[in-house]
Amino acid sequence: MSRHPQQIRAASAASAASSRMPVSKISVPPVPVPAQEQPRPAPSDDIWSKCPTCKEISFRKEVERNLNVCPKCAHHFRLTVSQRLSITLDRGSWKEMFSEVAIGDPLKFVDSKPYPKRMEQARAASGRNDAVVTGIGKIEDRTVAIGVMDFEFMGGSMGVVVGEKLARIFGVGTRRGLPVVVFCASGGARMQEGALSLMQMAKVSTAVARHRDARLPYISVLCDPTTGGVAASFAMLGDLNIAEPGALIGFAGRRVTRQTSNQELPDDFQKSEFLLAHGMLDAIVPRSQMRFTLARLLAMLMRPGAVRAHGK
Ligand SMILES: [Zn+2]
Repeated sequence: MSRHPQQIRAASAASAASSRMPVSKISVPPVPVPAQEQPRPAPSDDIWSKCPTCKEISFRKEVERNLNVCPKCAHHFRLTVSQRLSITLDRGSWKEMFSEVAIGDPLKFVDSKPYPKRMEQARAASGRNDAVVTGIGKIEDRTVAIGVMDFEFMGGSMGVVVGEKLARIFGVGTRRGLPVVVFCASGGARMQEGALSLMQMAKVSTAVARHRDARLPYISVLCDPTTGGVAASFAMLGDLNIAEPGALIGFAGRRVTRQTSNQELPDDFQKSEFLLAHGMLDAIVPRSQMRFTLARLLAMLMRPGAVRAHGK
């Protein structure tokens, strides 16, 4: 689909061999970027917000107060990373980790512009180094290792840094005995890093498996959109896979799927409601209920005796 320019088809990626990318050797120092949030919308968009589902126009402020959910039809707009963290975590509990991990240009990749140029623009616009933020925070007083993918940053595409930071935060969770929650939002693997990006599927999946071997829970929250190599690896590997309403979730896009399967696809194909009805998700949780639901699930999964009760 045209909305996922960074997505590449990762059909054979599951067989990606070694994922031991020596990140430290190709890392560059973090680029100094302005501490601004997202670029300001155009003035005409400033006050009003048009809902793509019901086409109604609402006060932007009213939508924002409503957790960026349309007050008329409950369409869930995408959130920025800071919005996500602020509505999920206890105030003042967030501590970011691994923000220094960065990558240069391992393949000297040039499409319509060189990869370093593209990265520079994405870094300047977002104020961060790559498409995921990782760290430790608290949800209703329970410490959790967290990853939040940033769709604004090159379509949330998964390259070496995204894989490395997620693998590291799983490692932190495993070592400290913490549950892990990842908010996924991605167009898939990052084509500018070629096979290196596909290897991240194996790397993160291995970290998830180690976490599971330690009998610690991992909750994957699939947000709009979660596609490509991310959907085909850690996004679907949670002990619980829960999604936001109306999120696009799938591997290949609708057109490719229709062509290869030669089938007419239902209208809600690859929407979270369709996936839930077909057993691919455990739950759909509205944004207003997400923090509370995560807290309740973590309380159940981490209660004394629940974890390590059947240890090896
Ligand atoms: Zn609406």
